[in-house]
Amino acid sequence: GRRFEEVRHKPVDEIIRIINEQTKKPADSPIDRVLESREIENGAGNDALLARNGRECPIAATAAPIRRNDGTMTGIVMVLRDVSQQREIDRMKSDFISSVSHELRTPLTSIKAYAETMLDDPDMSKQTRQEFLQIIDEESDRLTNLINGILDISKIEAGTIEIIRKPVNVASVAKRSAESLEHVAGKKKIQLQTNITDHLPELLGDENKIYSMITNLINNAIKFTPENGTVSVSAQFVNNELVVKVSDTGMGIPKDDLNKIFSRFYRVHRPGKQIQGTGLGLAIVKEIVIKHDGRIDVESEIEKGSTFTVYLPVSPQFALAATK
Ligand code: ADP
Repeated sequence: GRRFEEVRHKPVDEIIRIINEQTKKPADSPIDRVLESREIENGAGNDALLARNGRECPIAATAAPIRRNDGTMTGIVMVLRDVSQQREIDRMKSDFISSVSHELRTPLTSIKAYAETMLDDPDMSKQTRQEFLQIIDEESDRLTNLINGILDISKIEAGTIEIIRKPVNVASVAKRSAESLEHVAGKKKIQLQTNITDHLPELLGDENKIYSMITNLINNAIKFTPENGTVSVSAQFVNNELVVKVSDTGMGIPKDDLNKIFSRFYRVHRPGKQIQGTGLGLAIVKEIVIKHDGRIDVESEIEKGSTFTVYLPVSPQFALAATK
């Protein structure tokens, strides 16, 4: 933010202020180091450039000597690369590792505790035993889902996610998905409403992936909606597209986060709220939508609720069959 006339003839350190991101103290300038070593020098791993208005930008600095043919140094060139994006990714990855470890540990702790209680008490009533086994079964499902999510993400990253295309009845997939989550909604006294048109045209797609996409959206809607709220799932056929909508009356998503929630590992910062998750769900949903040549939209208002809408194109022969 400075004009050339302002910086001309001024000492470099006065204009290009490099600080240590943690201590905020001036960092060792790579230029000074080149003056000493006469070799290429890199900055430290935690340098930041301090702008005139006080803003900090994480940078990677490199300085190199400019030499004449006879080897005498006539100047120094310094390159400052903005690494904010890289830092953000590093931060997301370390957040991810800590949340995954936590997510893995919670169901495991409970599986272990219930199994131990059963082992310790061979005379336990049949009903209690049944209840404990039920919990172990549900918690194992949670673990499986989490691990499948991580595997899906690594396949997406490697570009090897496979779509097996067969005619899919999206109406029945959506109903099945909603039914499977009824007990989760019930635990929070959330009403799970469905408005699914029976005679939807079939979609040429991957049934398991579409199931997992809808399940992810409904799961989130329940997760981010406080007790006594409502989650609605609808599936319709509009303009040659299957339109699946999942709306909730939950906590909503801040405007600034709306375009980031589909990135891997991204989770909205919700101070004071302990909501489990890994930030993988919507990244997987988006990838599945893209693989089916569709698109996904989100509308949201804080404290009012969110609506996720998926549009999936139907191939013409199926669309035609539906209108007959
Ligand atoms: P996770 O649910 O594991 O945190 P997701 O990728 O599924 O990860 O979602 C990313 C973020 O988007 C969540 O952390 C959450 O803050 C926000 N989000 C997703 N769905 C909803 C919803 N229905 N209502 C409010 N926030 C949501």
